[in-house]
Amino acid sequence: MTLVPYDDRDGWIWFDGTFVPWREAKVHVLTHALHYASAVFEGERMYAGEIFHLTDHTRRLFRSAEILDFEIPYTLAEIDQACKDTCARNDLEDCYVRPIAWRGSEVMGVAAQASRIHVAIAAWSWPSYFDPAQKAKGVALTWAKYRRPAPDTAPTEAKAAGLYMICTLSKHAAERQGFADAMMLDWRGYVAEATGANVFFVRDGVLHTPIPDCFLSGITRRTVIEIARSRGFEVVERHIEPSELETFAECFIVGSAAEVTPVAQVGEYTFTPGNISLSLMDDYSRLVRGGLEVAQGAAVAS
Ligand code: PMP
Repeated sequence: MTLVPYDDRDGWIWFDGTFVPWREAKVHVLTHALHYASAVFEGERMYAGEIFHLTDHTRRLFRSAEILDFEIPYTLAEIDQACKDTCARNDLEDCYVRPIAWRGSEVMGVAAQASRIHVAIAAWSWPSYFDPAQKAKGVALTWAKYRRPAPDTAPTEAKAAGLYMICTLSKHAAERQGFADAMMLDWRGYVAEATGANVFFVRDGVLHTPIPDCFLSGITRRTVIEIARSRGFEVVERHIEPSELETFAECFIVGSAAEVTPVAQVGEYTFTPGNISLSLMDDYSRLVRGGLEVAQGAAVAS
């Protein structure tokens, strides 16, 4: 596979309100975000010309910025429009969309209240997060080295760049051992999520998923809960002990990039992608293209 570097591609990137040629969308090395992780971002997908749950993603971007103590200098509607414009400008109808907001170069040092806040949006074709051949059979995960931090240790509700350091390290270690990803526990030792996706388990026709009280509350997770409930499945949101994995028949991970991906293994536990995982995978792919109606509000915790 030839690697096409992300800074050397054709196209246009929305950068602080205007489109700049892809290769010119640069920041200075003395950028606060690069040194102190003062950046928040989103990961979205456009399907057949529509960005799925666009405004939910934009709202989360603004909320993440607020949690990181900065204000995005645009309105929500402007960022929504800029995401759509970025896809249009690059002639993309099925793609991944990456908005990012960060502190600039005006101030160096931990405190940087006077720094300018920048926003950029890029979009590119990104067909499958996991190897498509592997996806249907279920991907193999190992346990991550790092745990999701407690909410009083880090701003866990934000989709903040700094929180991904432990994800990159955990996923690298997993890949080196031949796994597709790593499953992270939380600070208490409960099962939390994969490095870029939330997790569901199935036992006796009931879905179980961890409560997102110290990790990202995924938009796909909420969507999958809505689909499952509208299909008549019971969904239980609760703390899950790692030893319980022995008792689950199916497992799958969900996220805007990962979509619904069946899991065949988490460490010492194995699963067989079955009817529920595969039908939710199918339902999700129809929903995102407007081919499935789901009752709104079905994701409200019962
Ligand atoms: N957890 C993490 C750590 C993620 O990076 C993502 C992907 N954004 C998710 C969960 C899933 O979130 P969403 O469904 O909103 O994409």
